[in-house]
Amino acid sequence: MTSSTRGRRPARTSNGAGRQNFAPPGAQRPEPVDYAIEIPAAITIHDLADMMGLNPIEVIKEFMRNGFMYTINEVVEHETAALVADSLGFDVLPLAEPDKQAGSLVISPDGEDPDLLEARPPVVTILGHVDHGKTTLLDSLRNSDVVSGEAGGITQHIGAYQIDFDGSPISFLDTPGHEAFTAMRARGAQVTDIAILVIAADDGIMPQTIEAIDHVKAAGVPIVVAINKIDRLDADTERVKRQLAEQDLLIEEWGGDVIAVPISALRGDGISDLLENVMVVAEIGELKANPQRSARGVVVEARIDKQRGTIATVLVQTGTLSVGDNIVLGEVRGRVKAMFTDRGRRIKSAGPSQPVEILGVSGLPQAGDVLETTPDDKTARQIVEERQRLREIKFGSGPTLEDVYTRIESGEVKTLNLIVKTDVQGTVDAVRNALERLNNEQTKVTLIHAASGSITESDILLAVASKAIVIAFNSRIEPGARSLASQEGVDIRFYSIIYNLVDDVERALTGLLDPVYRDVLEGRATVRAIFSLGRRAKAAGFYVNDGRITRDSKIHVLRSGQELHVGPIQSLKHFRDDVREVATGFEGGVTLEGFHDYEEDDVLEAYRTVQES
Ligand code: GDP
Repeated sequence: MTSSTRGRRPARTSNGAGRQNFAPPGAQRPEPVDYAIEIPAAITIHDLADMMGLNPIEVIKEFMRNGFMYTINEVVEHETAALVADSLGFDVLPLAEPDKQAGSLVISPDGEDPDLLEARPPVVTILGHVDHGKTTLLDSLRNSDVVSGEAGGITQHIGAYQIDFDGSPISFLDTPGHEAFTAMRARGAQVTDIAILVIAADDGIMPQTIEAIDHVKAAGVPIVVAINKIDRLDADTERVKRQLAEQDLLIEEWGGDVIAVPISALRGDGISDLLENVMVVAEIGELKANPQRSARGVVVEARIDKQRGTIATVLVQTGTLSVGDNIVLGEVRGRVKAMFTDRGRRIKSAGPSQPVEILGVSGLPQAGDVLETTPDDKTARQIVEERQRLREIKFGSGPTLEDVYTRIESGEVKTLNLIVKTDVQGTVDAVRNALERLNNEQTKVTLIHAASGSITESDILLAVASKAIVIAFNSRIEPGARSLASQEGVDIRFYSIIYNLVDDVERALTGLLDPVYRDVLEGRATVRAIFSLGRRAKAAGFYVNDGRITRDSKIHVLRSGQELHVGPIQSLKHFRDDVREVATGFEGGVTLEGFHDYEEDDVLEAYRTVQES
């Protein structure tokens, strides 16, 4: 039995219907312990006993009383373990549902017992326009950390670091900018608690500042503004404050709730004031985590070292990560062999908000991958396989304008999130006004980001992270953004007449949009070999890197990013057999109608035409 009720219950009062309990009256019972536990999908008896703070023998006996025979190293499923833990007087937190949206199995933080939560340091990201001083500020903060008492200071960049500010630790992500910030969110990881928005006082708010503001707002992360370069003669802090107000960021001295601190990152002026305000925002946010549970974290960066293998920087978000823990990071797994702080100091365990470098991972995880601990390597392997499967399902499955109505009707979403890119600044407001006029009591159009310029990868990542549709008005798309959009299934609509744009959105909101046909990217493969089939005809031997190639796919042949051919498949083989599909990680052979000029390393993209309804 799983239960969401917290706190201690008498050990014997909860025999639910259908549950057997063979304990003889008056049998010796271990003392119940006063907290809820979180049992993973599978766990060994040994680990379960550990989790409950009981002798494994007692736990094995309790299994026997409930009619189960197990030895100490046997793995039991959540349901069975929960049943026994329950009869030992523990509250068992419900097993978290796999988070299919993020394509990963994520343990819901909602499952935490409030009694076990403790204050944790804030995790801060620094954003702003290029050259406004983000890197200088990160360096200055890193070097200002003289109170920490650890010799050597921070010499290496591992992607994140922690400083000690008057006895309060603060963690910083070392990769500044909103692209990295949103890339992590697009992968399902929300790492940042507070964003410091750096604005150079001599330059004022610039396009990337606005982009950063929109990205941070979309994430619902509080902003502390650092008005930088106040040492410069041409610094104009008042202008920055006015410009902030225009972006709906009203500072405190003008009656708003946005904290703005004048600083000079170069000289170190105002840095303590900035950090003090970061701590104030952290306190308001009541940042908490349970250090007693198994660890969950996020990969900040990872690299392969010739001698030591994969070195991954991980930010622990909740729980405690220890040397020896079995872990999964996205689609790779491992066992923590050693852990180091940002100062290169070897440690045995790391708690919430702490960045650490870990050794012992088998592959190369990606920034934004979620780290979780598993009871054993077998479970880790199962989770990795499941994630690979879910990723394939996820392939090309973002929201489309056609299914907006269904999503709103079913209560899945309340608003239509849009990212609008236009040719010139003047049209941004025209499109914004026209779209906002469509808002009524039932439906709401939210412009997550509206700006002039071409559609960039950063826009696509924001669309993924915010489940938004991209509207292009006389705007072009950058090549990298186009392939990212196909891969992530982001719907992009191109318009050159405002009326058509608004009409489509309106019809989408009312469920009247005509069905359209759309090509959805199904898979991507690389040509590894070319085979001659006669005088001219050739077949391409390929390896599927992502998704799948199916017999009915339309194939786009790309060489160095240039499209050479689009057309149907003539034959699809796996070894000598004709097959219906070839999946990720497998090799196959293909012939195309009307194309034979393959070269090694050509990319084959497989598209399927789907009807949106
Ligand atoms: P980023 O692109 O936002 O990371 O900006 P950088 O940190 O690289 O800074 C861009 C330039 O501004 C560098 O030449 C810095 O030395 C300079 N800079 C940064 N902060 C200050 C400051 O507080 N005062 C002055 N005068 N220059 C600064």
